[in-house]
Amino acid sequence: MPKTEHYQWYTEQFAPTELHAHAIDETYFAGRTQFQSVAVLRTAVFGKMLVLDGDTQSSQADEKIYHESLVHPALASVAKRGEVLILGGGEGATLREVLRAPGVRRCTMVDIDGQVVELAKRFLPEWSDGAFDDARARVIIGDALTFLKEDRDRYDVVISDLTEPLADSPSFPLFNGEVFADVKLRLAPRGVYVLQASTAGFHNMALHAKMARSLLRFFGHVRSFYAHVPAFDNDWAFIACSDDVDVAATDPARIDAYVGGLRGENFFYDAETHRRLFALPLYLRRELAKDGDVFA
Ligand code: SAM
Repeated sequence: MPKTEHYQWYTEQFAPTELHAHAIDETYFAGRTQFQSVAVLRTAVFGKMLVLDGDTQSSQADEKIYHESLVHPALASVAKRGEVLILGGGEGATLREVLRAPGVRRCTMVDIDGQVVELAKRFLPEWSDGAFDDARARVIIGDALTFLKEDRDRYDVVISDLTEPLADSPSFPLFNGEVFADVKLRLAPRGVYVLQASTAGFHNMALHAKMARSLLRFFGHVRSFYAHVPAFDNDWAFIACSDDVDVAATDPARIDAYVGGLRGENFFYDAETHRRLFALPLYLRRELAKDGDVFA
């Protein structure tokens, strides 16, 4: 066995009885903002990492798996993508991916925590890769809950890239029927709402299923999909919702044409990956079909 005692460890607690540990090479920042605890680390295996309230948000080695999955299935499936809205999205990689797509006139990102955005610009510039300076980016520091109540614009795609809706998180008030109805009002005709939607492991898929069941009360098509994200040591789920567009059924030729039109090359997503993202294992399909808890 290799020796491990000289390392400092970042330990992510998945559950009261489940810990996952990463050896730390360097700590760039560790502290609290007004809204959450923040750590920016460099780990031995995954490179730089952003950690909020003890949860890994993304790693340098594989953040493209997460961000390409969150953004491109939805953007590939809509007829128009001129106006895009991101709820959360702190470090700017979701913004980066949106701005790679053809036809985006403006991308509005609303994150509650200006300090997270500034820390990401300073220590994780690879994530945004210039997106914050793009003339099409409109970055608003504020509560997405208030923004959704006050804004009157319509968006072709709304992307929820918020932290997990745990009871003490600033994202928790954004997971209820009133907010899902507000998002629906902000969607343009044939628009899509896509969410990062928690874990899809057979042992920790309950929150994901609760989100999907809740969204089914508001949208005709609610499609779960997931990718394995090694830094999360988990299968990570997403949900694409629309009354008009079934994102799971997007034509492969359309996806490849869309991917071919992106600025730069994808790491993860193309038509074949799309098919794999939406091919769900039986245990997850069974969980999604169950009656159960919903967000009120
Ligand atoms: N794509 C991200 C990454 O790679 O790290 C993952 C999620 S991102 C960091 C989550 C963001 O949601 C955080 O920056 C947090 O400040 C933001 N957030 C949480 N609650 C919010 C709220 N009520 N309104 C706006 N943003 C919120």
